[in-house]
Amino acid sequence: MGSSKTANALMVRYNYVEKGKKVVLLKPKCENRDGEKTIRSRIGLEDPCEFAEEFLEQYSGEHYDCIIVDEVQFLAAEVINRLSDLVDTYGITVICYGLRTDFRSELFPGAKRLMELADDIEQIKTICWCGKRAHFNARILNGEMVTEGEQVQLGGNESYMALCRKHYKERQIKPQK
Ligand SMILES: [Zn+2]
Repeated sequence: MGSSKTANALMVRYNYVEKGKKVVLLKPKCENRDGEKTIRSRIGLEDPCEFAEEFLEQYSGEHYDCIIVDEVQFLAAEVINRLSDLVDTYGITVICYGLRTDFRSELFPGAKRLMELADDIEQIKTICWCGKRAHFNARILNGEMVTEGEQVQLGGNESYMALCRKHYKERQIKPQK
């Protein structure tokens, strides 16, 4: 979705693996109907992963140095609660990557719960076409920005573009000629 979250997640995983640490990558099952257990970034990196919901259901106290979660916005609030238990009960570092808001600029439920519970929150810098920081994710359909529709739309023809607040409000997805 127009930022480098997934590449960041995979690089952090690599750093842990390189130092001989035990790490697992997770992604939401709900968002991945094809059942493929791989996380792929737009710049070509990829690694095997587990589904977060299944992993947490089966988890019984094994040691991990770090759990890395991608696309965390699609997880249910209860799953976020469970991730925080792994931090507090088992002393595991949990690092989550995801979007704060959807294409209507409203919080994803998973992102809301994460922001309520997280020890630290860092924003990964993404830039609008105008050069300003882009915190908004516009949904683009047939070359136009749309603001109505389901929060999670799977298998559609839409794409996403990161915009600054001004250009999100003005629905301007490229410079005017
Ligand atoms: Zn802009």
